Amino acid sequence: MNIVEISNKFPTELHCIEYAEKLRWGKKTKCAYCGGTDLQNRNKDMRHRCRDCNKSTAVTINTPLHDTRIPLRTWFFAVSIITDAKKGLSAHQLKRNIDVSYPTAFNMYHKIRELMADENKGIEDLEGVVEMDETYIGGKPRKMNDPCFKPKKRAELDKQINELKGEGFNFTPKGKSKAKCQPEPKRGRGTDNIPVVGIVERGGDVVAQVMKTISYDNLKDMVKKYVNEDKSVLVTDSLPAYNSMKKIINHIKTDHSRLYSYRGVNSNSIESFWAIIERGIMGQYHSVSPKMLPNYVAEFVYKYNNRNKNDKMFNEMLKKLVNPIN
Ligand SMILES: [Zn+2]
Repeated sequence: MNIVEISNKFPTELHCIEYAEKLRWGKKTKCAYCGGTDLQNRNKDMRHRCRDCNKSTAVTINTPLHDTRIPLRTWFFAVSIITDAKKGLSAHQLKRNIDVSYPTAFNMYHKIRELMADENKGIEDLEGVVEMDETYIGGKPRKMNDPCFKPKKRAELDKQINELKGEGFNFTPKGKSKAKCQPEPKRGRGTDNIPVVGIVERGGDVVAQVMKTISYDNLKDMVKKYVNEDKSVLVTDSLPAYNSMKKIINHIKTDHSRLYSYRGVNSNSIESFWAIIERGIMGQYHSVSPKMLPNYVAEFVYKYNNRNKNDKMFNEMLKKLVNPIN
């Protein structure tokens, strides 16, 4: 549901509360404390008093929204905007769209991401041709100098700098350490970025998770958890950590240094998921803390697995927001 539809379908806070009550309890609204159904008419604050336990009850009690001071209608808009944004959006953008403070927008977004992560726990039994691959996500490495910088060019630049210095220009700010002259950092394997491993069933769902160490044992555990080994063939690249996969599953390797794709053996599906993640995380969020990364990844996994199902995502997320926490 997009924001125009939300605006029309839920013109007031009360419309949102009634819809949330239906999502939580079905036809008959109950007391969130004792489950009783003998409720007084709504008070001014739109809560009910329960005649059984005499408490003031509301649909958000004991749910992820228990402590929220944000109107439910604002949550409806947030869920709509977030689930609609295929490439994600920044908390700054969300803040502007729903007119809340930045910390509020940030916390709302993360709450919704946590629910997406929770929903992803249901992924299992990927089968058929499944592609597995790893990528590295993190703060973009800063461009560094190339030590192979041609001596002639360097001499030209030195000359120019010296001339300009003579005119009073200074390129090295006082008190700051000089930029080190180092080769440009490697991208991909061998960098400090955080490894994320993904498995995708061609034409089906994807699963992805942050993996501290890429080792055979960790990769194997992931395959066992998410893939139906008897009905699948695993396509990977030639990273040695995959070498023993054949012990547990049909395994075929691509060799990217020689052939990117050969007779349909390729990693195109997982590569296109990485492209979405990269554009989404690095494009929207610029840098991501390692602590938060699993939730960012979860957002893109959830959206990939529910592509073209915007209404389903909207209702699923709302339902989780107003369902009791166990
Ligand atoms: Zn009660």
